[in-house]
Amino acid sequence: PRLVREAAYTYIRPDSFGKTELVGVSKAALRDLAIDPATVDSEDFEETVAGKKIVTLEKGKEPGDSDIYPWAQCYGGYQFGQWAGQLGDGRAISLFETTNPTSGTRYELQLKGAGKTPYSRFADGRAVVRSSIREFVVSEALNALGIPTTRALSLTLAPEARVRREMNEPGAIVARFAQSWLRFGTFDLARSRGDRNLIRKLADYAAEESFGGWETLPAKVASNNESDVTSPPRGVPKDDLQGEGENQENRFARLYREIARRNAKMVAYWQAYAFTNGVLNTDNTSIFGLSIDFGPFAFLDNFDPNYTPNHDDHMLRYSYKNQPSIIWWNLVRLGEALGELIGAGSRADEKEFVEEGVAKDWADELVKRAETLIEQTGEEYKAVFMAEYKRLMTARLGLKQCKASDFEELYSELLDTLEALELDFNHTFRKLSYISAEDIDTEEKRKEVAGRFFHHEGLSGLAGSEADARSRVASWLEKWRARVVEDWPANDSGSDEQRFKDMRAVNPKFVPRSWILDELIERVEKKGEREILGRVMNMALEPFKEEWGGDREEEERFCGDVPRYQRAMQCSCSS
Ligand code: AMP
Ligand code: MG
Ligand code: MG
Repeated sequence: PRLVREAAYTYIRPDSFGKTELVGVSKAALRDLAIDPATVDSEDFEETVAGKKIVTLEKGKEPGDSDIYPWAQCYGGYQFGQWAGQLGDGRAISLFETTNPTSGTRYELQLKGAGKTPYSRFADGRAVVRSSIREFVVSEALNALGIPTTRALSLTLAPEARVRREMNEPGAIVARFAQSWLRFGTFDLARSRGDRNLIRKLADYAAEESFGGWETLPAKVASNNESDVTSPPRGVPKDDLQGEGENQENRFARLYREIARRNAKMVAYWQAYAFTNGVLNTDNTSIFGLSIDFGPFAFLDNFDPNYTPNHDDHMLRYSYKNQPSIIWWNLVRLGEALGELIGAGSRADEKEFVEEGVAKDWADELVKRAETLIEQTGEEYKAVFMAEYKRLMTARLGLKQCKASDFEELYSELLDTLEALELDFNHTFRKLSYISAEDIDTEEKRKEVAGRFFHHEGLSGLAGSEADARSRVASWLEKWRARVVEDWPANDSGSDEQRFKDMRAVNPKFVPRSWILDELIERVEKKGEREILGRVMNMALEPFKEEWGGDREEEERFCGDVPRYQRAMQCSCSS
């Protein structure tokens, strides 16, 4: 392990792994990176995504010659609540940045599993096939669902890179990309070393390069009771505020709040689509508010708020229901890392603080101000999370607005019912997307329709008697129906088509559950199949469709009931 100080990255080249096989490319990724699909078959493409060819090194560049020599990032992290010291990209190497000329979106492309870096610590810098397949599929699936996430361009098998895990396994490389790979842990590490200058540089980099400029970060004009947080301190002349108006927050506070809002939105999506990350350490939490680091992740099958996909998470720290508060816990660590910077009211403060050192009492004052700001940001985080979660659930239920009473009477009641009866979360919403107001306008019909939500083999013993279960679902359907016709009066006369369309556009038919990924891994890795990967990717890239033009029977099986003994699987994940 090499301790890298006063820097956020190290130049490093990928290893060469002998024979490799490109087995999957995401069409959506090609589009977003503006790569011509015709070039995918070229040697250039295959060798680049396998780490064999470094496009930016053709002129014999050395580290430091240019900004585009491959690099690995340095970061630390709190793992399961404990400070873990320096971690860093132990097996991810970034190749270059590229900007989509149409959208103007800038991405950093990196290879995962491409060999050792100064941050590999005691590990080998490689990735096994199973974790690589999982990351390749889920990154693109989340993106297709509209969930902010890092992305995956390609999957390459490297059979000659033998990786020692539970047994000797072949390796793989995922070419992945994101608007930013900065993690909360990037800031945590600098803080743990008291490197304020690096924190400031990182914040500058994040704001200017990832977020598109400080000026894009909205300023909140302080209200009276907040003015002690943002007013210029100790008679600093207004001129020194450099355009940051007297009652506006300084730029680091604005950056912090933007990071909080983005993460609030991301985790609202996770909760609304029942996605669990499984290892929400601060090194796995994104400054840009992206789903990042796909280890033991899973979508919930039966709705169980205590579910964690992480076999080793005995305390359920990273369970489904804890995700919003854990992301906030991580945001508090980030606030502490930004500390004096978000407490400072002006550039003058900041300059004095960072460059000249400050008197203890003034430092204490800045930290106090930062604490207040973190608290206020917590309120904003909650508000943004709730607004986004309500928006998503409202759409998933086919409603046009969220009434004050909906949250308790409709949303909570549905979740309680799903939990009590052990029903499938995502399937429930898709099934609702086919139920017309007329289908459930009598108690008898509702009880009949209720059966559609049960697994094919019926309810589990724990869920109670079938008659009771039907009554419970039926009474929820009655409330839901009343709200549907309130928001869509025309539905009462049998015109549900537009609502069906809207609902099916937000309620996926296909979700890459753990059992499907397991089958995919088995078939690709053990049985040598290849086409199955493309078929599953087609489904993942367009999850709202009815059919994908592949093997119809297989498609229906992947969209149907989760086999009983494969529900709520966990991952021990030596990846
Ligand atoms: P994770 O649990 O995926 O968040 O990884 C935690 C840390 O371990 C990160 O710094 C990873 O880069 C590093 N790491 C995980 N697996 C390997 C590996 N096979 N080789 C090198 N570093 C690794
Ligand atoms: Mg990680
Ligand atoms: Mg990982």
